[in-house]
Amino acid sequence: MSAIEKNTRTELSRGELAAVAARVYAGERLSREDGIRLFESQDLLGIGFLADLARRRAWGDDVYFINNAHINHTNVCQNLCDLCAFGKQAGSPEAYTLTLDEVEAKARAAAAAGVTEMHIVGGLNPELPYDYYLDLLRTVREAAPQACIQAFDAVEIDFIATQAGRPVADVLQELRQAGLDSLPGGGAEIFAPEVRRRLCAKKIDGQRWLLVHETAHRLGIPTNATMLYGHLETAADRVDHLLALRELQDRTGGFLAFIPLAFHPANTAFSNLPGTTGVEDLKMLAISRLLLDNFRHIKAFWIMLGPKLAQVALHFGVNDLDGTVREEHIFHDAGAATPQYQPAASFLRSIRAAGRIPVERDTLYREVRRYA
Ligand code: SF4
Repeated sequence: MSAIEKNTRTELSRGELAAVAARVYAGERLSREDGIRLFESQDLLGIGFLADLARRRAWGDDVYFINNAHINHTNVCQNLCDLCAFGKQAGSPEAYTLTLDEVEAKARAAAAAGVTEMHIVGGLNPELPYDYYLDLLRTVREAAPQACIQAFDAVEIDFIATQAGRPVADVLQELRQAGLDSLPGGGAEIFAPEVRRRLCAKKIDGQRWLLVHETAHRLGIPTNATMLYGHLETAADRVDHLLALRELQDRTGGFLAFIPLAFHPANTAFSNLPGTTGVEDLKMLAISRLLLDNFRHIKAFWIMLGPKLAQVALHFGVNDLDGTVREEHIFHDAGAATPQYQPAASFLRSIRAAGRIPVERDTLYREVRRYA
């Protein structure tokens, strides 16, 4: 143990986080009360130290990134959630839906750039028939055969199944036969019912979101999980959300990664809110690592945080920086000022400068290349 680590442990054992720190050192699971105490603490570096320790001890020094591309196939959405800057009413001048030819062109361009993941999410467009989703997946599978397809969050899956009048399990199986490999983690927002109602009244509730993911896991389809924070939620809401994910992960083991998403208020009904600060973002990531002891991957989504803060997050429990992305609409419509693309060389530089080992992965976290 280094002198710095020894001193930090001594400091922590004398302060407000002494009991939490003792449980982390002992490798014990943290409780709801521990989680709330962590969120209420101002000791960012102490929390980061504990998260870094938990990450290093359980999962090692590898940091993952992926060569991926996003397709947002439609922004037409019947929900028009107050939290969203992306969804548009059908017929509005900004509304669009990609044809299958346009999807194919995007997938071919991504394939030519060597992507190993196509990430596909969009609005709830009531004009699209069930076959559109199957054909979209088949088109991408054919145009980019080497890429995993991570498509349609739980809200979209529920919508597609409801529109088709089919059970979620049947729809997931048919989507898988058409090319689906994994579900992204979007749409979770915050499970707390009252806050959720104010943010996105028409969206499926937290229980339904969890059920869609559980159904996918039981069918052998892995998924990601998210939480939107930095809006109206309390510390207890955040902890309860994380614990609901931890409980499902205990039962299924089907989550690949957790991605806390900082709320971007621009162009939403909450544009009066200030957004998160860097300290809040780092604390959120570190506490996620500490509470989600059964999630291997905690991801800092650089598109939302910016590449520099995402790099610093590698010392706050993070071991995944997402990927090259190339084209992204959902968070940029809500005011994200980051670039749309980050080359692999930039990930290598950033990860190495943080003293860690870059590993390029695919969607399922299989190694594509390890950079010594
Ligand atoms: S958050 Fe999702 S469901 Fe809500 S309006 Fe935006 S795209 Fe539609």
